[in-house]
Amino acid sequence: MPELRKDPVIGRWVIIATERAKRPSQYHKQVEERKGGFCPFCPGNEKSTPPEVLSYRAPNTLKDQEGWWLRVVPNKFPALQIEGPLRRSGEGMYDRMTGFGEHEVLIESPNHDHSYADLQVEHIQEIIWALRDRCVELRKDSRMKYIMVFKNWGREAGASLEHPHTQIIALPIVPKRVQEELSGAGKYYDYKERCVFCDMISQEVADSDRIVTENDSFISFMPFASRFPYETWIVPKEHTSFFNDIQKNQVTDLSSIMRTIFSLIKEGLDDPAYNFMIHNTPFDETGNTPFYHWHMEIIPKLTKVAGFEWGTGFYINPASPEEAVKHMRDVMRRAGKTDRSQTAAKLAMIH
Ligand SMILES: [Zn+2]
Ligand SMILES: [Zn+2]
Ligand SMILES: [Zn+2]
Repeated sequence: MPELRKDPVIGRWVIIATERAKRPSQYHKQVEERKGGFCPFCPGNEKSTPPEVLSYRAPNTLKDQEGWWLRVVPNKFPALQIEGPLRRSGEGMYDRMTGFGEHEVLIESPNHDHSYADLQVEHIQEIIWALRDRCVELRKDSRMKYIMVFKNWGREAGASLEHPHTQIIALPIVPKRVQEELSGAGKYYDYKERCVFCDMISQEVADSDRIVTENDSFISFMPFASRFPYETWIVPKEHTSFFNDIQKNQVTDLSSIMRTIFSLIKEGLDDPAYNFMIHNTPFDETGNTPFYHWHMEIIPKLTKVAGFEWGTGFYINPASPEEAVKHMRDVMRRAGKTDRSQTAAKLAMIH
């Protein structure tokens, strides 16, 4: 029988309809075709992007030339623009605002074909440092209220360029999805004087059947009220409200857990398209906000959002997170070991 489950942060109900359960190979996902052709993000084509705002590159190499292993550039076709004023206006009952914001692209590797599953953990650490550097920098602009870091991998997930990249958008407003989380987490805190995400971590550790893997600083689990099959979160174990405050040991642990999770998605789900986003605390909050906890949400693109979802805000998830975790653990076991962290290391080594 299908089951309704309620998200403890925003109160959204999802339908876990396991009668519709499928093996991962049975999802009708589009096979990702590599289309090749000219790539503005490949080394040698630096002039086809706007000038870089950050790069990690070999000594004695020049800005906007080869020699980099990671570059951040403004988006050539930005969703929002930094030029011009931030102006609000009204037209009767309707509100408008100039399309103000900052839109950057982090080109993650000079290699056109490398995904997280192929990168060394040391390289993923560099990516995390670069994201942090840009988040710290963009936060200095007092007109901005929020930064969204996200990745679209594969055309099904909305990526228009194949070359591995992550996007950073700084916004003059706090997006609705984040506001819902903030308000839900705030209410929970008012009532219980505890962070809902910290409580979720304790509960997941106690239940243990939704944990994919963990290390000293991070835990990865499939949320109780998952909207999508194999939806996976990565959450710092220590209460931290700003991603910008990430410490060296956390960067090391985050990169290794990301490497494991993205390798599992590639191996266990037959390399689907996916999105991930980092939910961070808005800039208005100062210091360590006790009720909000930054986290990463990863959504493999295995199903499509359809009429019922659009019409109701309910999601129908054909795979229970507990079953999905079992599958991922099998994939890890097949990779050779039973101990969680060692399995992760082993899995990281097979590529
Ligand atoms: Zn490329
Ligand atoms: Zn917390
Ligand atoms: Zn979130």
